[in-house]
Amino acid sequence: MLIDSYDRVVDYIRISVTERCNFRCQYCMPEKPFSWVPKENLLTFEELFMFIKVAIDEGVKKIRITGGEPLLREDLDVFIKMIYDYAPDIDLAMTTNAYLLKSTAQKLKDAGLKRLNVSIDTLKPDVAQKIAQKDVLQNVLEGVEEALSVGLKVKVNMVPMHNMNADEIVDVLEYCKARGMTVRFIEYMENRYASKEISRVPSSELLATLAQHYDFVEDGYDGASPSRYYRMGDGYKFGIIEPYGDDFCKQCNRIRLTAEGQLIPCLYFDEALSIGKAIKEGDIAAAAEVLREVVKNKPEKNRWGGENAEVSSRAFYETGG
Ligand code: SAM
Repeated sequence: MLIDSYDRVVDYIRISVTERCNFRCQYCMPEKPFSWVPKENLLTFEELFMFIKVAIDEGVKKIRITGGEPLLREDLDVFIKMIYDYAPDIDLAMTTNAYLLKSTAQKLKDAGLKRLNVSIDTLKPDVAQKIAQKDVLQNVLEGVEEALSVGLKVKVNMVPMHNMNADEIVDVLEYCKARGMTVRFIEYMENRYASKEISRVPSSELLATLAQHYDFVEDGYDGASPSRYYRMGDGYKFGIIEPYGDDFCKQCNRIRLTAEGQLIPCLYFDEALSIGKAIKEGDIAAAAEVLREVVKNKPEKNRWGGENAEVSSRAFYETGG
């Protein structure tokens, strides 16, 4: 079992398979084109899988594939099948913008993927174009319908922003509710790469807006998820992820691996150790040692909130959010 210095069990790893993305979401990426990590610097699926086996053997029980946009990486279903065949009971999930999901959902499900988180910030084509800086909405919505029809469980992430999509909170919730999908509203997290124009909708404002339309009660956290859930009269639950106000670090159970092999103990901090050398040399013991070291050095808390609040220097498209 992997236990950090604050007695937290670390059993969840998020793996970014590429930092590349086919969207340019204003809250995540810089507007200007920038240079991507050269493809030859990425770990191959075989190399990533070698590390995943180490992590599973050390006690990891949940794996989320993310990015960048993970569906940009070819043969992702083959990679998912490798993991599934090694550990069919692993909670195997993916986060995607769904743009390429229509043609891939069935293959991913057949390979062993269990759950998806899809980012849907708006249901208006022009707003989607503004946020992602590309005409994306139709593909996204078709991708979601396909995922549901092949039997994948889907949760939706929305980042509400003033003067952008804040007026759609209820519409997105209704869209999700009608399809049996949980929606989670994520407070915009400041980072160096996002547009300076973005204005975060705080959870207090979100809750006040939702309270004008629904009756609901707080329902607490679901396991180690950073999302605080709320239950409506008819049983439907929605979540709010509140990095500036909530103390979800106490129950944090996750670490992150970038496509280049940097193992990151906390989304907020720059600190990371590379598993690249160990994996490329096929040195399983050394890879396990790096993993244990990163877990041991996991910081107690992020610094989004509180007196010393700072802007994070981490790019979410590198770490997978
Ligand atoms: N391309 C995939 C997608 O769009 O879901 C996966 C990567 S994306 C970085 C993962 C999640 O991070 C998305 O749900 C996105 O909304 C969230 N995210 C990115 N930047 C964020 C920010 N500045 N604040 C809050 N959430 C953010």
